[in-house]
Amino acid sequence: MKTEFSLAQLADPDIAEADKILRACVHCGFCTATCPTYVLLGDELDSPRGRIYLIKEMLEKDRAPTEAVVKHIDRCLSCLACMTTCPSGVNYMHLVDQARVRIERDYKRPLPERLLREALAPGRLPKPGPAAGQVFATLGRPRGRVALLQGCAQQVLAPRINQAAINVLTRHGIEVVLVKDEQCCGALTHHLGRDDDALAMARANVAAWGREVASGGLDAILVTTSGCGTVIKEYGYMLREDREFAAPAAKISQLAKDITEYLATIELKPSDGRHSDIVVAYHAACSLQHGQKITTIPKDLLSKNGFVVKDVPESHLCCGSAGTYNLLQPDIASRLRDRKVANIATVKPDMIAAGNIGCMMQIAGGTSVPVVHTIELLDWATGGPRPGSN
Ligand code: SF4
Ligand code: SF4
Repeated sequence: MKTEFSLAQLADPDIAEADKILRACVHCGFCTATCPTYVLLGDELDSPRGRIYLIKEMLEKDRAPTEAVVKHIDRCLSCLACMTTCPSGVNYMHLVDQARVRIERDYKRPLPERLLREALAPGRLPKPGPAAGQVFATLGRPRGRVALLQGCAQQVLAPRINQAAINVLTRHGIEVVLVKDEQCCGALTHHLGRDDDALAMARANVAAWGREVASGGLDAILVTTSGCGTVIKEYGYMLREDREFAAPAAKISQLAKDITEYLATIELKPSDGRHSDIVVAYHAACSLQHGQKITTIPKDLLSKNGFVVKDVPESHLCCGSAGTYNLLQPDIASRLRDRKVANIATVKPDMIAAGNIGCMMQIAGGTSVPVVHTIELLDWATGGPRPGSN
């Protein structure tokens, strides 16, 4: 795509980055077919290509965001299905993140919207729990040491998920640290366009984990909520212009791993087969499949550990959770949830597995089939309790 930024504009590193991204787009439109909002609404401006044009116009002309631009950018789920589909490697994520920051800075939203978005602001998120600073020793000979992100929403909604991760890890000789002074990862704040707040959280976490690396050593920083993992893997990019934090942030991003990504690198105990008749529908969270490109690992782990794993039709389409999206765009979110639940029902599962608490809550709101985290099933398979039994 031809761009017309001035040399003065290109001196801004963010604009230079946007220019690079826009030039990579060849208008082919392949991305439209896999974009959930285009599939539902059929409006080119609710497709990745349409949004790219809107962002280009806004940035190139250095215009304040219009109501129309805000409407179509707000409807984007940041699911990143478009990035998986794009043959030209267009980094839509970095472009839409810039657009959101500009909207947050330059657009005055109507009061009810502002109040709702303030209610989702970082100060309202739960702080990491009282367990911060705890170390969980291994059962048997230690062979590794990791930090486990405590998370904020997840620890309130489903503390059993991190408990299952601690069970599996310590059972396999991996010491687990819940790092003191860790904060919310900043993902929700980042997607709301509140860049200063999100960067402050990123810096605080880079510093806290950096201290732990220096004192006790860490093989990895493990994350059981893929929405958080995707953002932590982006810390290096987010802080690339920060002289003090750029290098440490890049190191932390390299250490960040989804729990399944890490478990695939160690030999798990043989499963006792108690659950070999359990049919599991695997829901691929967008942040895991599109954001982190982790597609087969969770399914392979579940299959190897005795579950009958079924793929869900239209698995590339978002369930509508998308961080705070289900609160900000409830109509589109519930249509996507109903479509997801109907697709899941076709494989007649006994359980639904996912790697992201937001998806789990969203899907559970539309089905009576138990929705569990992949790690809960792996805990069960390697000697832990059946999910839902404790
Ligand atoms: S991130 Fe998702 S909703 Fe947004 S443009 Fe890309 S495919 Fe569409
Ligand atoms: S698939 Fe990629 S190159 Fe084609 S229109 Fe979409 S973003 Fe542009």
